[in-house]
Amino acid sequence: MGKYKTLLFDVDDTLLDFDLAENAALTRLFEQENITVTPAMLVRYRELNEAMWRAFERGEVTKNVLHNTRFSNFFKEYGIDIDGEHFEAGFQKYLQEAHYFVEGAYDVIAQLAKDYDLYVVSNGKTTTQNKRLIDADLAKYFKGIFISEQTGYQKPMIEFFDYVFTRIDGLDKNKTLIVGDSLTSDIKGGLRAGIDTCWFNIRDIDNTSDIQPHYEIKKLNELHMLLENKKILASI
Ligand SMILES: [Mg+2]
Repeated sequence: MGKYKTLLFDVDDTLLDFDLAENAALTRLFEQENITVTPAMLVRYRELNEAMWRAFERGEVTKNVLHNTRFSNFFKEYGIDIDGEHFEAGFQKYLQEAHYFVEGAYDVIAQLAKDYDLYVVSNGKTTTQNKRLIDADLAKYFKGIFISEQTGYQKPMIEFFDYVFTRIDGLDKNKTLIVGDSLTSDIKGGLRAGIDTCWFNIRDIDNTSDIQPHYEIKKLNELHMLLENKKILASI
């Protein structure tokens, strides 16, 4: 019996490449709205969006405020007045039509599903994430899909993990590992919830934060080795 039984996976930039999907969705959205967006403006959009997500993780803004004002706030900086909710609806529509795998994600998940109980833990929008996971043919490998919108809480809030844990039959926190690319939501949340954490350092960045994951991988397929080693150690 290996150390772990239950694996919790983040979605965006852990299994599905969010940047590619976001780029495709933004390009289609701005074309549809006849707005020319320069690369510099896209950089600024990402900064603003990122700042709003961090505020959301800290519980300072709601998901609705984030979604309905990120585009209007962004365009306001350029003196353009747009309907934020209308843009958000268009963005979500295009986003859910796009899914690009993180390298190796499909094979790793298909393989791990044979030996472990897999669950999705995502801070995205329920309909968007479900559709992307189904279109990517990944949904079938997960025993449960937990999305912040449906739980009412988000990573790294302890309430999000409490919600998930009470809905997994026979969950043993000592045999549970969360895998995700975000130190501030996946790893911080996992540490708070008292489970082991594996930081998927997909962008190969230095961790200058005080959030210390139990493990770090840079390629998703390193998970096999990590879990195997744990199995070996646990069986000695
Ligand atoms: Mg992520």
